[in-house]
Amino acid sequence: MRALVTGGAGQDGWYLIELLLSRGYEVFAHSRRPVDPGLHAGRVSWHAGDLTDEASLNHLLDVSKPNEIYNLAAVSRPALSWDIPIETALLNGLVPQRICEFIRHKSPTTRLFQASSSEIYGDSTAQLQDEQTRANPKSPYGISKAYAHQIIGAYRQQYGLHLSCGILFNHESPRRPLGFVSQKIAHAAAAASLGLTETRELDERGKPILSDGKLYLGDINVRRDFGFAGDFVEAMCLIMQSETPSDFVVGTGHAHSIAEFCEVAFRVGGLDWTKFVVVDPLLLRKVDSHFTRADSSKLQSELGWRPKVDFPALVDMMVQERIRVLKLSLASTDAGR
Ligand code: NAP
Repeated sequence: MRALVTGGAGQDGWYLIELLLSRGYEVFAHSRRPVDPGLHAGRVSWHAGDLTDEASLNHLLDVSKPNEIYNLAAVSRPALSWDIPIETALLNGLVPQRICEFIRHKSPTTRLFQASSSEIYGDSTAQLQDEQTRANPKSPYGISKAYAHQIIGAYRQQYGLHLSCGILFNHESPRRPLGFVSQKIAHAAAAASLGLTETRELDERGKPILSDGKLYLGDINVRRDFGFAGDFVEAMCLIMQSETPSDFVVGTGHAHSIAEFCEVAFRVGGLDWTKFVVVDPLLLRKVDSHFTRADSSKLQSELGWRPKVDFPALVDMMVQERIRVLKLSLASTDAGR
């Protein structure tokens, strides 16, 4: 089997490629950046090029001839999508449709998994969100993902193609980029546990993530359904293998606040989070989804998916990894002196 993974160098791409390789797939992946040739032990065929350029995208699809396409590439931060709304619309909305067009005209047996998002629900008032919950997105990110989600559903119905969407709720891992709040907290908690008061790594204000012993955050009462990326890529593969293509909500069903994330993260180093976390009104978002909690019963009952890593284990894993990374960096600074 040949799989193409767009966004292959991102968080989910890493876990998904490992899983596909372990199952004997030949893997093609896309990244705009040069990828370390040692990544995945050199077993992946990496391709560059601009996905939003139709000719370049079609060339990638032509040369990789995939049986399965996992479309993970996206402007993946809602906050960033306000800075680059047009690129967001093109990459998150139009590229999935162009992939559908390619499948329809040139390779109708190729299957597609699209990384849809809980952000399509916007500020939903539903206690639990499932496949029937009304889309009401609030950001360029959510709107572009909603477009892709709905156009893929329409192509599936119209042409009978194997096109599926996983409506992914938040999922984290030690591979989450530092621009995301979960990793920012894990990094600050790790630094504080090592006795640091300042980090080299900067936050979105261009200031150290831990600055004078403080971590500055926006709304800490926002609640999210946080899962582990390794569990989510298993869901992606189950959805791809499902006999009937469809939409599936992917999430743990448990919501936790940002404050709880901080509490568990600082507790790893035996610290009290309230002594470190400061709410900065400048970091409050005007538009945000305040509450997400997934109802994955369809995925669980039809395809047997179960998340394996719970919230405390996830946060612990992230903080431990940041401690390891920070210790390495401190050791190399010492060695350089
Ligand atoms: P990620 O780590 O940010 O990876 C996304 C990848 O998209 C990046 O590696 C980047 O690849 C690629 N990308 C960004 N801009 C691009 C552009 N202009 N052209 C081509 N590629 C571009 O995100 P992730 O957490 O792995 O998420 C995977 C997918 O799931 C995304 O579609 C995301 O929207 C969706 N999702 C994620 C979550 C979550 O909580 N993680 C929740 C809901 C939905 P290069 O820089 O290497 O080119």
